Amino acid sequence: MVKIKTKDEIVLMRESAQLVSKTLGMLASEIKPGITPLKLDSISEEYIRDHGAIPGFKGLYGFPNTLCTSINQEVVHGIPNDQPLKDGDIISVDCGALKNGFYGDQAYTFMVGEVNEEIKQLIQVTKECLSFGIEQAKAGNRIGDIGFAIQQHAEKYGYGVVRELVGHGIGKKMHESPEVPNFGKRGKGTKLKNGMTLAIEPMINLGTKNVKQMNDGWTIVTADGRPSAHFEHDIAIVNGQPEIMTTFEYIEKVLV
Ligand code: MG
Ligand code: MG
Repeated sequence: MVKIKTKDEIVLMRESAQLVSKTLGMLASEIKPGITPLKLDSISEEYIRDHGAIPGFKGLYGFPNTLCTSINQEVVHGIPNDQPLKDGDIISVDCGALKNGFYGDQAYTFMVGEVNEEIKQLIQVTKECLSFGIEQAKAGNRIGDIGFAIQQHAEKYGYGVVRELVGHGIGKKMHESPEVPNFGKRGKGTKLKNGMTLAIEPMINLGTKNVKQMNDGWTIVTADGRPSAHFEHDIAIVNGQPEIMTTFEYIEKVLV
């Protein structure tokens, strides 16, 4: 069942969302060739705990870390390791935090050093997909309108839209109803209403849409080994319109 949030609950959710955004902003200045995902993980955990929250992913379904760090052909759910990042890599960092009983959840694909043009475009288009999806998250629309907008934009570039993993409702639980696929049909699925809070998160592949799971039981990689990008915002539907609770502002003021 979809849990509708009150205005007061949305205020609390925005606080959790903003903390995750600040954590990613803090990471933006650390992500460069030579740093390890494990180091990013440990400074993120410290940052979240220092701000009166707890990491949202650590222990969730048994996941071992604060961040999911997914590099190049890894789509999502990568486990931070001690392999230093290299010039030309991309790293999708997904972060969650639990504060005041509510979760925040956000992802951003960072470039490490100088990345080739083909991959830069994938990243740019995936971010645009997120914006187009959010635009559709209005009261009266349906879940399928979000997925349709995302899929249509990605496929214009010949990219693969991952089917197996989807966005979700978010609140007192990290994953609530409804599922928010990154593909779909206009006018289909759950009707959107004021007070719904959703994590919208396109996962877009340069090549095939097909993915597989690695032997670690977590990491999802593209079936063809080509790169993948992932961006995620938490939104609340307020006065009929999508209000973005997370922000890329802290990241992007570091990156420019
Ligand atoms: Mg996430
Ligand atoms: Mg999510």
